[in-house]
Amino acid sequence: MSEIILCACKKGHKISEKSVSDWKEKLDAAQLSYTFVEDLCGSIAKNEVQLGDLVKGKEPVFIGCQPKAMKNLVAKISSNDVPNTFQFYNAAESSPEILDDKEIQKGAPKTIKYEHDWKPWYPVLDYDLCTSCQKCMNFCLFGVYALDDDGMVVVENPANCKDLCPACARTCPSNAIVFPKHHESPIDGGKGELPIFDGGNFLNQIQQSQDVYKLLANRRKTSGIALMKDQLSLADKEREACKNKENNKKD
Ligand code: SF4
Ligand code: SF4
Repeated sequence: MSEIILCACKKGHKISEKSVSDWKEKLDAAQLSYTFVEDLCGSIAKNEVQLGDLVKGKEPVFIGCQPKAMKNLVAKISSNDVPNTFQFYNAAESSPEILDDKEIQKGAPKTIKYEHDWKPWYPVLDYDLCTSCQKCMNFCLFGVYALDDDGMVVVENPANCKDLCPACARTCPSNAIVFPKHHESPIDGGKGELPIFDGGNFLNQIQQSQDVYKLLANRRKTSGIALMKDQLSLADKEREACKNKENNKKD
């Protein structure tokens, strides 16, 4: 049995009100039962148990922002293992036909409210990519990250994260950090990739190369190494801005 979960992104406006109301209208017209989640990011952080119970034993269909962002958010309520039966769709890019082959109960919609002042802005880790290198943890000045008992980097204190700052995502060598509410792709989990480091590997290539200049020129063309440097310097600036804001609050 499928369970439809429609997110309205109350605190982030990642989905237009029109997309949300179009979806609601169509689900209501078909009298399909669904759960309207005011803010999935917020509910994952605050109503984890309620959401976990909702999807237990079901085949949930999440409709919201970027599928990758939602999948990694939902990993938090399914012990980091999101079954293949969980599906994720971008509300603006999909239509109710995606539900045609699904078995869905008829009934009135339910709502999971999000009534906290806190805007749930925090990083979400993609554990298919994360190598637990700890770079994000060492870069963050605000104690958002920590190590769990197995030595995995986890987002321990999401509320410590600074609103609208995506700096640590730019420093991750594996592109494993998503900020679902960010306005830019791929940081929001959308298509595209941030430039990837291959530190040691590239060093080896330089050591073995007969023509380092040619190697560097090719590398610039193909790998976006210059872009990578831009990302790191942007990350430094973003982190500095957060630190200054924090200091100003204390004064
Ligand atoms: S960022 Fe995505 S998952 Fe989070 S509240 Fe907005 S739409 Fe929902
Ligand atoms: S920097 Fe990226 S790969 Fe390293 S621990 Fe953080 S999320 Fe994982």
